[in-house]
Amino acid sequence: MSIQYNKIQVQVSLENLRHNYRVFRSTCDNVIPVIKSDAYGHGLIEVGQAMEQEGAETLAVGFVNEAVLLRESGCEKRIFALLGPVDDADFAALWDHDILAAMGRFDQLERVAQMAEERGEVRVGLKFDTGMRRLGFRPEDVPEVIEFFRSNPKVVPVMATSHLALADEPENVAAVNGQAEKFQTAVDALRGAGFEIEANLSNSAGSIAHERCHYDSLRLGIALYGCNPLHDTEWAGRCGELRPAMDVSAPVMHVHCLKKGESVSYGWTYTADHDLTVAVVGVGYADNYSRSLSNTGYMNIKGHRAPILGRICMQMTMVDVTGIMGEGLDVRPGDRAWLLGGPGPGTITPEDLAGWWETITYEVFCLLGMNRRQYK
Ligand SMILES: *Cc1c(COP(=O)(O)O)cnc(C)c1O
Repeated sequence: MSIQYNKIQVQVSLENLRHNYRVFRSTCDNVIPVIKSDAYGHGLIEVGQAMEQEGAETLAVGFVNEAVLLRESGCEKRIFALLGPVDDADFAALWDHDILAAMGRFDQLERVAQMAEERGEVRVGLKFDTGMRRLGFRPEDVPEVIEFFRSNPKVVPVMATSHLALADEPENVAAVNGQAEKFQTAVDALRGAGFEIEANLSNSAGSIAHERCHYDSLRLGIALYGCNPLHDTEWAGRCGELRPAMDVSAPVMHVHCLKKGESVSYGWTYTADHDLTVAVVGVGYADNYSRSLSNTGYMNIKGHRAPILGRICMQMTMVDVTGIMGEGLDVRPGDRAWLLGGPGPGTITPEDLAGWWETITYEVFCLLGMNRRQYK
């Protein structure tokens, strides 16, 4: 369910998502699109369908219930739930909806083995904790994991996975290699024991910067949505040309004059030092446009940057359009103000907005993507 009470419009270009996918498909023929959390705000089902059409054989989501939503939309590809089963409904869904879920604990494996006695064979993924210290078996658990599968032949491991913590940091290559070594040991042991598993370790940054972490498939998240995860590092040039796929706009509601010496919005945190023209835009923190952008961010109106003036309100934000009017452009109620994207030369990139917001592009997409979406 998207936010229904506002006038925000999120435009998603499925063509750009397809383009980004193809950039990686040219380097590896098994690229798993990561479409968890509603495809980072771009739409689980729409993005899933576009990726299926591009030839993706596996789609990765977060929780098992998101995997079920994707299955129920008609997806016939393999669906991998990265976060694994949590509750009764999740465990049942492995059979009922044919979901491949990552297992990272022995009690999960035992429960699945018990259910397999009644419901039949089930395939599972294995998640290893090689350094993230979040979820997954530890490398030293591997002998016991192998022993488990030997004694429970109805539970079949088909995938081994682990997640890199520092793949986007050129100064931390040693730590990435350390994770890769631990993962390699686990994969070798499983294969040595006769289990045929697909191995994957790389997220977007690993896919671009760490060839030794490629293994059999790549788990591609943020790069699919058009962001270079290495953009502010010395490795930025290693990434192919990607295209952001999300544009977000809101309507100009009112335009007026702010006289020299007048202040604007709650707390009067901005005072004009000369006469200004101000546009009131219909978006605020209730639409997931963060209040931390007060007096810092910009919007794009008619291809030009308009600085945010004063505090962002629940459903309104004031911006300075004096410079835009000075370009001879009229700004009127009904015009669109772009929070993300919009026409050049003032196009707002995801990295621009995330920088002003003091967060990462992932969070910008997830939050703004909760507004009503339209597909191009
Ligand atoms: C989210 C996620 C990814 C994708 O990461 P990006 O940095 O967006 O490419 C890959 N693997 C796992 C386990 C994840 O949770």
